[in-house]
Amino acid sequence: MNAARLHEFGRPLQWDDVPTPELRTGSDVIVRMAAAGLCHTDISVIDGTLPDIKGRFPALPYILGHENAGYVHAVGDSVTGLKAGDPVLVYGAWGCGTCVFCRRGEEQRCPVSPLTPGISPEYQGGFAEFMYVPSSRYLLKVEGSMEDLAPLTDAGLTSYRATKRVRSHLSPGSFSLVIGTGGLGLYALQYLPLFGSSTVIAADVADRKLRLAENFGASVALNLREDNPVEKVASATGGRGVKSILDFVGTSATAALSMKVLSADGIYVDVGLGGGTLSVPLIDLVHSESSITGSIWGTYEELAEVYELVKSGKVKSTIQKFNLSDINSAITQMRNGELLGRAVLAG
Ligand SMILES: [Zn+2]
Ligand SMILES: [Zn+2]
Repeated sequence: MNAARLHEFGRPLQWDDVPTPELRTGSDVIVRMAAAGLCHTDISVIDGTLPDIKGRFPALPYILGHENAGYVHAVGDSVTGLKAGDPVLVYGAWGCGTCVFCRRGEEQRCPVSPLTPGISPEYQGGFAEFMYVPSSRYLLKVEGSMEDLAPLTDAGLTSYRATKRVRSHLSPGSFSLVIGTGGLGLYALQYLPLFGSSTVIAADVADRKLRLAENFGASVALNLREDNPVEKVASATGGRGVKSILDFVGTSATAALSMKVLSADGIYVDVGLGGGTLSVPLIDLVHSESSITGSIWGTYEELAEVYELVKSGKVKSTIQKFNLSDINSAITQMRNGELLGRAVLAG
């Protein structure tokens, strides 16, 4: 089969002819890929700056891609409920299955064996014609455009879990701030009004992304390159500050801004892996009774919920389609901040 493989960290991927994955055990499924989303995490893996949760880098050459949708191609003897041709999303957090987190469905938090195809050395990802999946329990049967659905497995799911965290902080007259209106932020803008009432402020460094955010319901657009974003938030909120903050960037700068504009009883949720650090005077935390937390990916059940929202037309994916063989130009556009929404590789 054809696959886009990383041969050297920091270099473009190469288009290779490699062996097609085969069934190894009765629980396995081989998926014929239909679409795969490109994530900022992929860039960090390509650059060799982001190891997996266990601190390891994949052995090269390696196939990335952890946001995958395709059609069942072959199933092991013990697989039930799936047959060749079924369209499926691949839930990508593959835990040990037996720890306390896995037992409650939070496999993305598994501390024992958290593996991700396309990031962890053990499993190749979906930037290929076929993909090996070790259990049918990671597959969600779906209907619809696979290109629109593929990003749900990470961009749509991660932003969904994060937005659920701020749900109890949404109320009429309150303000929400979404930092970063790329692949994840555009989903969050759609989830917020489904979960509660708030006036949404969207923040980014690119005006065309902010215009798109306004199309998705943001009432205030905040360009972070402007002189004084803190003042702009203060005036937009009438000095009240922001009750809910979703940070999809996660740099020291976005965290610092967040701490300045977060109101009493507020919540700051970091999702972005920008590598920042956060410094907060504890006395402020005492007085404000605000919450500071993170949110990581999502559960299979949450993926099913996100799919239901898309199926019912309440949430839409914003994608830019590329041929898989043109993946390097998608990567370049992502590096340059030129993409609107999610880049999806297909065909
Ligand atoms: Zn990702
Ligand atoms: Zn586990």
